[in-house]
Amino acid sequence: MRPQFGLVSILLAVLFHVVQSLDEGSFWHVTDFHYDFSYHDEGFSCTKTVAVEDRGPFGIGWCDPPWTLVNSSVHAMRNLHPDVDFIIWTGDNVLHAKHEEDQLGTSINLDILDNITNLLADVFPNTVTYPCYGNHDYFPNAQFPVTENAIYQHMAESWSVWLNSSSIKDTLSTGGYYTALTNYGKVRLVALNTNLYYSSNKQVAKIYDPADQLTWLDGVLTNATINQEKVIITGHVPPGVKTPDGFMWFYEDHNRHLNEVIKNHTDVIAAIHLGHDHEDEFKIYYSSSDDTARIPVFLAPAISTWRYVSKEKTGRVRNPGIRLVKYDRDTGRHLDYFQYYLDLEKANREGHASWTRLYEAKAAYNIPDLSAKSLGTVRERLLSRESSPIQAYFTRMGMDGDVDTQCDRECRDAIYCGMRHFDMASYRSCLVDVSSGGVRRYSIGLIVFCLILTCTGYY
Ligand SMILES: [Zn+2]
Ligand SMILES: [Zn+2]
Repeated sequence: MRPQFGLVSILLAVLFHVVQSLDEGSFWHVTDFHYDFSYHDEGFSCTKTVAVEDRGPFGIGWCDPPWTLVNSSVHAMRNLHPDVDFIIWTGDNVLHAKHEEDQLGTSINLDILDNITNLLADVFPNTVTYPCYGNHDYFPNAQFPVTENAIYQHMAESWSVWLNSSSIKDTLSTGGYYTALTNYGKVRLVALNTNLYYSSNKQVAKIYDPADQLTWLDGVLTNATINQEKVIITGHVPPGVKTPDGFMWFYEDHNRHLNEVIKNHTDVIAAIHLGHDHEDEFKIYYSSSDDTARIPVFLAPAISTWRYVSKEKTGRVRNPGIRLVKYDRDTGRHLDYFQYYLDLEKANREGHASWTRLYEAKAAYNIPDLSAKSLGTVRERLLSRESSPIQAYFTRMGMDGDVDTQCDRECRDAIYCGMRHFDMASYRSCLVDVSSGGVRRYSIGLIVFCLILTCTGYY
């Protein structure tokens, strides 16, 4: 009996230790509001003509949202989970104006940014929000400069409601980026201004390290390692390849440079959270040296349901989404996230918004946590013939707004390759590998076999 009792005690002690040692915290991620103040009259953002009386109270697919939706999303965050450690807010608050030179301007953009800053500060009076800029927040669109300017300076003051140290104000005023230690554990937040690498930004095309952000980032990550902290990076425009479309948002050199800095510090970066795509996606940084999955990268869905329209292409129908992330305050490890969404059509029909849970990441992907390694297994399963989760993934990308479009094999391969490959050359090479399946490996095997036969004089 004694040994058994001893074993039970040990197991209980271990269990107690495990339960006690996991200090779980949570934070909200909200992004891409694109508030259209003209929604109820001119509709500056609308890509199709819809009569004012036919525009639903919470928004429609062709236009950026009215204040009703912006306000509803932030209140939903409080109603669903008020006690978060902090909020990350990854930019693009200004509408997609069709004639930006007449419809927007520095002071209009700043008013929109201030409106949403005030909303978050009022609804979450005791919670720090960590903002960063989206390409639409600047006027003219995306042209973020590498020195002081009216927008950086104004917002450094506005955001001092949450960020008031002089070092934060310094980098915010000159480059639109900053770092802050969160109030929990040893988790550090780094908010990047990735608009400085966006190929639509003509101010930075010829600059090796715009606003010295990457030199600064390298230093911050080195210090975080020395101080045994863990870092959560936020930003707006994502590095790597946009899929399934297959193009890069960044200038090639900037993309390479940023990826190098990140890959040099994989041990200290807990996760990266981005916006801009308006879609729910993930990517994974792998180590170049030992080929292991190292950093999970999460792209969150938008509040705006605006659809891109050109001669060649129309964007998919999407619903608005907000995301609650669970993490370990000690290690920064991401444990799970709850993805909430609003069925826009239903909300407009019923005249009130009921934000509901669309899925829980851990359960939906059948993984133990949201580590890079776990996400890597989800990625590998995409290629499974019997039970590939690709269609579920593709439908979730737009918060179930479009459940009819199929993600065919080409679409699947693009998503699979884009999840891991952050530059065009390796992305394309992955596509060739995947599309040829085992054929390529078989051919190489056959060539080696023939060479052996030739060398041994068999032919
Ligand atoms: Zn956006
Ligand atoms: Zn954007």
